[in-house]
Amino acid sequence: MVYPDTFEGFAVHDTKKWSTVEKIEFKPKPFGPYDVDIKVEACGVCGSDVHTVTGGWEAPVLPVIVGHEIVGKVVKVGDKVTTLKVGDRAGVGAQIWSCLECEICKQGNETYCPKWVDTYNDAYPDGTRTYGGYSSHIRAHEHFAFPIPEKLNTLGVAPMLCAGITTYSPLVRNGAGPGKKVGVVGIGGLGHFAIMWAKALGCEVYVFSRSSKKKADALQLGADHFVATGEGENWNSDLKYKLDMIISTANSTKNFDFDAYAIMLKVHAKFIAVGLPEDQFQISGGTLLKNGCYIGSSHLGSRQEMIDMLNLAAEKGIESWYEAIAISKGGIKEALERCHDGDVKYRFTLSDYSKEFA
Ligand SMILES: [Zn+2]
Ligand SMILES: [Zn+2]
Repeated sequence: MVYPDTFEGFAVHDTKKWSTVEKIEFKPKPFGPYDVDIKVEACGVCGSDVHTVTGGWEAPVLPVIVGHEIVGKVVKVGDKVTTLKVGDRAGVGAQIWSCLECEICKQGNETYCPKWVDTYNDAYPDGTRTYGGYSSHIRAHEHFAFPIPEKLNTLGVAPMLCAGITTYSPLVRNGAGPGKKVGVVGIGGLGHFAIMWAKALGCEVYVFSRSSKKKADALQLGADHFVATGEGENWNSDLKYKLDMIISTANSTKNFDFDAYAIMLKVHAKFIAVGLPEDQFQISGGTLLKNGCYIGSSHLGSRQEMIDMLNLAAEKGIESWYEAIAISKGGIKEALERCHDGDVKYRFTLSDYSKEFA
C-alpha cells in the first residue's frame, strides 16, 4: 500500500497516444492543517480531460493524470479542518486551491483568484504538480472539498463537480428563476445539466441543437421548447429579442452562427459561453449593438454555489445521465475515446476503484 506517502494514478505519457495510460506513483503536496485526503471511489470524465491529454488547448506537462469530478471517502483530516471528518463522503471539482486571502477570494469569487490552481496539470505555489482523480487518492484544502448530501448516489453526483457547477453558477449569477426564458445551446455533458438546472430553478427552457436527434432527451431533461438549428431556415425568427440569457455549451465553433443566437437576446442580456472550443468564435461587426447584448464566460462556481447546487440536486432528485465504466487501462481508453467522439449520454463516470487501488 503506497498511501499515505505516495498516491497512485493512471497517467498519460504522450499526447500522440492520448488514450493510453500507465499506472504511476506520485507524491502529493505536503499535508497541511486545512487539508483532507480522500480515497477516490468515482470520477467523471470531462471534455477538459480530452482537451488536456490530446494537447488540444496547449501542451500538458507530462506525465499527466486527469480527472476533476471526484467523489470518495475522507480518510485523513488536518488539525484545523472543521467542515469534514474521517468517513465522510466528499467531492472535489476542477479547482484544488486558491489564495483565499485576496479581495476576489473574499467576495466568493475564488474560481477567479489570480493564483487559482487547477486540480490537474497545474502546480501549487511551492511547485508541487497537481494530479487528478484517475488516482487512488486526492489531497485538497477543505475549501475545495465538498460534503455530498446523503441522498445523492456517488456515480451520479460525480459529474456535477465540474459539468454541473459550470452550468449552475452562470445561471444563478444571471438571475435564472421563475419567469425567465433561458436558451441552452448544445446537449452533452454540460448542456444536459444546464437544462436540468434551468428547469429546477423555474425557468422556461429553450434548447438549441443542430438536429432533432436529441429532441426526446431534451424534453425528458426538462426543456419546454426544442429548436433544431440545422433543419430549416429562419429557425430563430420567432425568438428575436425574447431570451433573458443563453448558456452556450458549444464545444466547436465550426458553422456556429453567433449572430443568429445573439439576436434572440433581450436588450443587454448575456450570451455566456461555458464550452471552451479549441478554435475561435467569429463575431461580425455590428452584431452586439443591435440589442446591446453582452458576450461572456464563467469559470466553475464558488464553494457556496457548489453546496447550493448539491442541495438542489438532492431536493429535486437530479442526477447526471451517466454511463459507468470500471477504472482500468482499458476502461479509461474507452471513456476518453468515446468522450472525444461525443459517444456518450451524457457523461462517463469511472467506477470500481477498489479493484485497481487496493
Ligand atoms: Zn485569491
Ligand atoms: Zn471539467
